[in-house]
Amino acid sequence: MGSRWWRRWTMSIDPQLYHGCLPSTLPIDAAATRLQWLGTAGFRIVHDDKHFWLDPHLSRHSPRQLLTGAIAPELAKIVEHVDAAHGVAVGHSHFDHALDAPAIAQLHGCPVFGSEDTLNWCRGYGLPESQLRLLQGNGPAHQVGPFTLSAIPSLHSPLFAGQIPFPGRIERPLTAPAPMRNWRVGETLVIKLQTPRVSILHVGSAALIDAELQGVQADVVLACTIGRHATPGFVPRLLDALRPKLVIPCHWDQFWRPLTAPVRQIPGNDLQGFIDEVRRHPTAPELRVLPLLGWTSL
Ligand SMILES: [Zn+2]
Repeated sequence: MGSRWWRRWTMSIDPQLYHGCLPSTLPIDAAATRLQWLGTAGFRIVHDDKHFWLDPHLSRHSPRQLLTGAIAPELAKIVEHVDAAHGVAVGHSHFDHALDAPAIAQLHGCPVFGSEDTLNWCRGYGLPESQLRLLQGNGPAHQVGPFTLSAIPSLHSPLFAGQIPFPGRIERPLTAPAPMRNWRVGETLVIKLQTPRVSILHVGSAALIDAELQGVQADVVLACTIGRHATPGFVPRLLDALRPKLVIPCHWDQFWRPLTAPVRQIPGNDLQGFIDEVRRHPTAPELRVLPLLGWTSL
């Protein structure tokens, strides 16, 4: 395969895309809600010195480990990047969203919020019931310090040949190491996190249920880009419903590369096409592309 073809397909990122979003340390505006992108669909949200984590995926196993081995949370990588945690929420239980959640909770003694599938993985990891919180679509809201957390039922986009990868549920406690396929998709949720400053909606897979988003507004949308072609009109439908002021794309990077390596797009992801669709939308929200581990103030 020609390297030029490969480079175009995986498109290294034009640094101009980051316009003003380069800080790699926590912004000091303490009154703001501050947000860090962790790669994949992972984010850290900080308000009043409380740290909330969404779909954190720091283990980032290599393709060889993923395809031939059994995986488990990589504690050294987690410890390196997670210095404080007051809560972790997971939108669906694929390994690249759910794998590290119980390890973070165990290290910092905080709760994990997720579907029964995600909680069964946490149980298998050895997290006690006292740290498990069931997150239900249209279910009750949870309070964690300054954060109000709730969830909206959603869907996972098909990715390969019209299929959702690793379909099904995690019906019993799942122990690791295990092959990546054991992290079944489970229930898919959109996560809503309200801080005293902003409302944030985390859409960890590029699909949606329009009726569920009716009447929901969000200041900030964290939008998965991989698989968006499988959901016709994903971007306009999402923006029509939520009318956000700011959109931050995620899940566009190759999450099998180390966090320290230069970022590369997932082959075929088309981040630029996503950006163009956001810019064309009549509500014209601001768009920020964050560098890996980059911070921004909301
Ligand atoms: Zn997934």
